[in-house]
Amino acid sequence: MEPALLGDLPGRPGRFEVKTHRVVVVGGGAGGLELATKLGEKLGRKGRAEVTLIDRSRTHLWKPLLHEVAAGSMDIHAHQLDYLAQARWHRFTFVLGALAGLDRAAKEVLVAPVKDDEGEEILPARRVPYDTLVIAIGSESNDFGTPGVREHAFTIDNAWDAHLFHRRLVNTCFRANFANDGRVIDIAIVGAGATGVELAAELHNTIRVLAAYGLKGFDPERQIRIRIVEAGPRILPGLPEYIAEETLKTLQGLRVEVLVGERVVEVTPDAVKTAAGREVPAAFVVWAAGILGPAVLRDLGGLESNRANQLVVKDTLQATRDDDVFALGDCAAAPWRDGKTVPPRAQSAHQMASHLVHTVLRRLRNAPPTPYHYRDFGSLVSLGHYQTVGTLMGFVTGGTLRLEGFLAKMFYISLYKLHIWALHGFWRMALDTLARMIRSQTEPKVKLH
Ligand SMILES: Cc1cc2nc3c(=O)[nH]c(=O)nc-3n(C[C@H](O)[C@H](O)[C@H](O)COP(=O)(O)OP(=O)(O)OC[C@H]3O[C@@H](n4cnc5c(N)ncnc54)[C@H](O)[C@@H]3O)c2cc1C
Repeated sequence: MEPALLGDLPGRPGRFEVKTHRVVVVGGGAGGLELATKLGEKLGRKGRAEVTLIDRSRTHLWKPLLHEVAAGSMDIHAHQLDYLAQARWHRFTFVLGALAGLDRAAKEVLVAPVKDDEGEEILPARRVPYDTLVIAIGSESNDFGTPGVREHAFTIDNAWDAHLFHRRLVNTCFRANFANDGRVIDIAIVGAGATGVELAAELHNTIRVLAAYGLKGFDPERQIRIRIVEAGPRILPGLPEYIAEETLKTLQGLRVEVLVGERVVEVTPDAVKTAAGREVPAAFVVWAAGILGPAVLRDLGGLESNRANQLVVKDTLQATRDDDVFALGDCAAAPWRDGKTVPPRAQSAHQMASHLVHTVLRRLRNAPPTPYHYRDFGSLVSLGHYQTVGTLMGFVTGGTLRLEGFLAKMFYISLYKLHIWALHGFWRMALDTLARMIRSQTEPKVKLH
C-alpha cells in the first residue's frame, strides 16, 4: 500500500496535502453492506476516509431470506433496504452499477452502464478510484452446464428471482382452483442443500395457507407434489449426519419425496431427467444444486481465481496478487483447515466483514493486516414452522451442542437479527422486531399475490 497518498498542492510545490483514503466495497450483501456501514460510521462520519459501496441492485435483502420470499412466507417489500438511505444514514456513498472490470494499474473499478427496463441508458459506464478495494459480490447458482436449466428452471439467486417464482406459483394455484379439475402440480427442487430442503418445507406450508384463503377448488394435499432430487448419497451434504436425519424425518412426515443418488442431466419443460434414466415430472423446477462465483471474477484485472470463479485470497483476505485488493464472503476462496476454504455462509461473510473493518483501520495507521480465522458456530436448518434443527459449536459445552425446536428457532432468527443489528444498531433492531410483531397481527400469513 502507498503509505500516505501525498501529492504536491497545485501551484505550491513542496507543500503537501493529505488525500483522504478511498475505500471501495463492491457488493452490498450479507458481508459487504455490514462492512460499508461500519466503515461509514467509523471513518466516513469523521472524514477520515471516503467510503463507497457499489452494487448492481438498488436495494438489499439478506440472502438467507430468499427461500421465504420464493415460498411467499415473507414479503420482500417489508424487508428490503434502500442502499441510498443506508448510505445517507451511515455516511458512505452509494454507486449503482455492476462490476464490469478492474484497472489495477490505475486503481480504478470499472462499473457497467445502468439501463432501464426498455434498454435505455440511465447511467453511463464509470470508473471509481480506490486505495483499498474489497470485493464482496457473493455467488450465483451453478448449473454445471446442464441442458435446459436456463430455459426451464428457476434459480433463487436474488430477490427478483424469488419474486418471479412466487408469482408464477400463485398464478398456477389460481388457475388450478378455477379449473377445479383436480390437476396435479409437480414441483422438483434440484439439490438437497440447506436452500433446497428449507424451500421444500416453506412451500409445503405456504401453499396450504394460500389455499385456506379461499381457493375452494384446489386441494394441496392431493394436488401438490414436492420432490427433492439430490445427486449425493444423502440430504444436506456438508452438514452433520444428525441434522440430515432429523430433517429427513420431518420432510417425510410432510410427504415431500426425497430422491438421493439421482444426478440431474437435463431439465425439460415438464420434467427433470437423471443420469440413471429416471424422469421426474415437474411443472416447476427450482435449481439449487450448488454455487459459483460470478463470471466477472474470472481473471478480474489479472487477479488469481479458482475453478469456482472465487478470488483466491491469503489468510489476511488480501488477493494473492495484490495487497490493496481484498475479498470476502461467497466470492472469496480463503484458506481454512485441512486444505479447505472457508465455507460460503452468511456467518463467514459477517465475520470477514468485521475482520476487514479492523484491517482497514490498521491500514490507515500503516499497520499490516492480521490473519482472519473462521469460527464455525454451527449450522441450523429451518423447515418453516414445522421444525428447526441444528448444532451449536463451542458455547456451553466447549463441544457440539444439538439443538431443535423452539431454542433452535430462536438461534435461527437471531442470525438475521444480528445482521439487522450490524446495519442499524441495537435499538433500531429492537424497534423493528416490535413493529413486525404488531404488523403480523393485521396481515395475511402469506403473500397472496
Ligand atoms: C435461499 C438461501 C438460504 C440461505 N440460508 C443460509 C443460512 O441459513 N445460513 C447461512 O449462513 N447462509 C445461508 N445462505 C448463504 C448466504 O446467503 C451467503 O453465504 C451469504 O449471503 C454470502 O454473503 P456475501 O456478502 O458474500 O454475498 P451476498 O449476500 O450474496 O451479496 C452479494 C451482493 O453483491 C451484489 N452483486 C452481485 N454481483 C454484482 C456485480 N457484478 N456488481 C455489483 N454488485 C454485485 C449483489 O446484488 C448482492 O448485493 C443461504 C443462501 C440462500 C440462497
